[in-house]
Amino acid sequence: MTLSAIPTSKYEAVIGLEIHAQLATKSKLFCGDATNFGAAPNTQISPITMGHPGTLPKTNEKAIEYAIIMGLACGSTIEKNNYFARKNYFYPDLPKGYQISQHTTPICVGGMVNIKTSKGEKGIQLNRIHLEEDAGKSIHDLSATSTMIDLNRAGTPLIELVTEPCLHSAEEAFAFVTEIRKLVRWLGVCDGNMEEGSLRCDANISIRLQGEKKLGTRVEIKNLNSIRNIKKAIEYEIERLIEITETGGTIVQQTRSFDANNDTTFSIRDKEDANDYRYFPDPDLAPFHLTNESIEAIRKKLPALPNELQKQWMSTFHLSEYDVEQLSEHKEEAAFFIQLTKLCTHYKSIANWILGPIRSYLNDSNTSYEKLDKVVPYIAVLIEMVEANQLNFSVASNKILKEIIEQPQSPLTYAEEHNLLQSNSADEIEQWVNQVLVKHPEKVAEYKKGKKGLIGLFVGEVKKISQGKADPKLSTQLLEKKLTE
Ligand code: ADP
Ligand code: MG
Repeated sequence: MTLSAIPTSKYEAVIGLEIHAQLATKSKLFCGDATNFGAAPNTQISPITMGHPGTLPKTNEKAIEYAIIMGLACGSTIEKNNYFARKNYFYPDLPKGYQISQHTTPICVGGMVNIKTSKGEKGIQLNRIHLEEDAGKSIHDLSATSTMIDLNRAGTPLIELVTEPCLHSAEEAFAFVTEIRKLVRWLGVCDGNMEEGSLRCDANISIRLQGEKKLGTRVEIKNLNSIRNIKKAIEYEIERLIEITETGGTIVQQTRSFDANNDTTFSIRDKEDANDYRYFPDPDLAPFHLTNESIEAIRKKLPALPNELQKQWMSTFHLSEYDVEQLSEHKEEAAFFIQLTKLCTHYKSIANWILGPIRSYLNDSNTSYEKLDKVVPYIAVLIEMVEANQLNFSVASNKILKEIIEQPQSPLTYAEEHNLLQSNSADEIEQWVNQVLVKHPEKVAEYKKGKKGLIGLFVGEVKKISQGKADPKLSTQLLEKKLTE
């Protein structure tokens, strides 16, 4: 059967995601080893990381705080009584023989994250967010005969965020992971770098007939390491499950992997049951208890979230949905926008400046908003000067912006010194206008015959010979007057 012949609308896809995010702590979850990415293999491994007998773990409080921050941002309920459990299994890159994880008591329960897709807005229900440690890495491609083990990553703190099975398309999964990546970065709890494995996703997928309530048998695709791959893997898998069903086959519960070379998935094992792990509370780690006060203290420190800022900016500054979405994409940019709005009330212009010349400048010079900290007031003045017709926008953005950033100085002084101020003097503009009219006698004749559209060309010419200094409104008025004389 060809895939195109399959009646896909007969089925509903059901997807639940598990996202692992490495927490941005300096040290590991249960010891002081560094967590830097890319360090030489096996250089961040104390006896605790290596699981030597007799060593004792100690919980990193920053990791707990980060998990709570994420939970509060997602509207989860924070569990006050917590403990860590041992999840027993053998993997070569997990020397203890068990992973320390939270099982029956995830630190954050429930919650919701809003996404936007082509079908509109939707809340994605979270099941839980729990803390656990990462494993090391087995490297299979350095040697033809051996597997290399790098334990640097072992013990790195992770949060695992688990959704309810309430997503129904690859597009929703794509939007959700994008939103989570944005959120962890915004909150500073994880760097969100999927290519470095800081954020990884497992996708659970099943299908059922439209209208059916019972969940179908699921497959789980492990370790998807880019948002593109998440989307491709889910698209492929939904089609595969439908094809099996349509051709009379039976779906088996399986763990699968994605092959990015041909955008397909393949089976790696039949799914073991969760109770194989023999969880039990880790006897070396005391349970930890949170108080209302400690949770509220963290809540107070939470930054305003992108969605809240978007609503606020649309209503106070009357900006478009597109503008506010763009401006709340990165925390540093949002903070810069907020600073400017305190110094200048032309909010739409501020948005245009940030999304246009300021982003271009930062891109071209490969710098970040940090560099602009000192010059916020000067940029505010620059924007005001354009609004007041003292400067032409292209002169301000192409010539002056860079100068006042690289050598913090008043844009007014700079413009005066370099003779860039826009001229409002009728005499001066008249000279430029005259020069242009003399230079283009044929165009003048055409204009006079009725080709009024040529006014744009004349205004452009005046702008050119005045090097952007002629106020366009005044030049237009003067040109029109002269051309109808
Ligand atoms: P485990 O830890 O064994 O992988 P969980 O029951 O905690 O299993 O579920 C993991 C993820 O799988 C969750 O996101 C959940 O929503 C999702 N899930 C569970 N059953 C199904 C199903 N039948 N179809 C799609 N997703 C499912
Ligand atoms: Mg799972």
